[in-house]
Amino acid sequence: MTPAADLLRQADAVLLDFDGPVCNIFAGLPASVVASRLKELLIREGVRLPQDVEALDDPLKVLRRTADIAPELVDKVETALMANEVEAATCAAITPGVREFLEACAVVGKPVAIVSNNSEPAIETFLALTDLGEWVTAVSGRPIGEPEQMKPHPQSTLRACKALGVEPARAVLIGDSDFDMQAASSAGIRSIAYANEQGKAESLTQAGADAVTRSMAELAEQR
Ligand SMILES: [Mg+2]
Repeated sequence: MTPAADLLRQADAVLLDFDGPVCNIFAGLPASVVASRLKELLIREGVRLPQDVEALDDPLKVLRRTADIAPELVDKVETALMANEVEAATCAAITPGVREFLEACAVVGKPVAIVSNNSEPAIETFLALTDLGEWVTAVSGRPIGEPEQMKPHPQSTLRACKALGVEPARAVLIGDSDFDMQAASSAGIRSIAYANEQGKAESLTQAGADAVTRSMAELAEQR
């Protein structure tokens, strides 16, 4: 039994990051294209982009920086981002093994919530298109209008625990970013790093992961 399987077995509920463990949301509509669209919107609104923002190719980072450089445009940028995320969700690529993983959780009676910095309409769109919705009890997406409350802030993870009726200490979060590991740790939730790329296991362990898995299929088998 690997440590990841142990953590999973001990948990009463599972929190699943969306982009990574469930799908590659920007597989069809690249993140860099969405980031460019948001930057163009800012420029059209008369904002002079600082160099660091000009260089961003992650739309979530553009939203985060909008709160600093043009707080009055957060709502406009967020609305545009949400529309782009829904578009992206229609051509996202499902993560191999996630369907089997969700089915395995259902078999052993562990409820699953999605905890994401992506917005809820996009997540719901993807779950509906892939027929995964029936395996997911709750969706805790990006707090709209409050980019500073995105992960690594623990808010969305705590909201998911509440929705599932589980104490944070009885849940486990599976994610693929430092922010996931940090959010889990701040909330008192144990974490499994989904490390599907070279070097990720080390960096996510350094960020506080309690265990590591290489694939969702591996986790599905080890429940
Ligand atoms: Mg992720």
